[in-house]
Amino acid sequence: MTKERTFSIIKPDATRRNLTGKINAKFEEKGLRVVAQKRLHMTQEMAERFYAVHKERPFYKDLVKFMTSGPVVVQVLEGNDAVALNRKVMGATNPANAEPGTIRKEFAESIEANSVHGSDSPENAKNEIAFFFSETEIVG
Ligand code: GDP
Repeated sequence: MTKERTFSIIKPDATRRNLTGKINAKFEEKGLRVVAQKRLHMTQEMAERFYAVHKERPFYKDLVKFMTSGPVVVQVLEGNDAVALNRKVMGATNPANAEPGTIRKEFAESIEANSVHGSDSPENAKNEIAFFFSETEIVG
């Protein structure tokens, strides 16, 4: 097991329902440490750039609209195999398919408003962390 960092977003559906603390508790219970965190309101330009890989997907426009609909909390999580571990703690994209006890099973409203984003590979984690944070803002 190697200590690793991943990137996380607490999405607007969750900040609207004041769930930041409950979601962070899930991370901490499962061995992930919040080593950087800030709350911000993504601009359309930021959301379009962040989700550029999904540009051709039919839900791209709606996703950008949703991610700019309210504040988000962007985070760096650290732990053993953090990328894979966080994906497990998050649960499946569609909450209907998510395992009991996962964040999305407990909190997500829909396949779109699914409460959290988490990097899906170590390489994406690196790029996504650099998109929002400078090294000095991350304190392990
Ligand atoms: P993730 O890695 O589990 O977040 O899933 P994806 O990378 O496939 O999708 C990115 C995000 O797009 C998801 O977290 C959802 O917010 C949204 N999304 C994915 N699939 C759909 C869909 O079929 N419809 C809509 N409206 N949004 C979707």
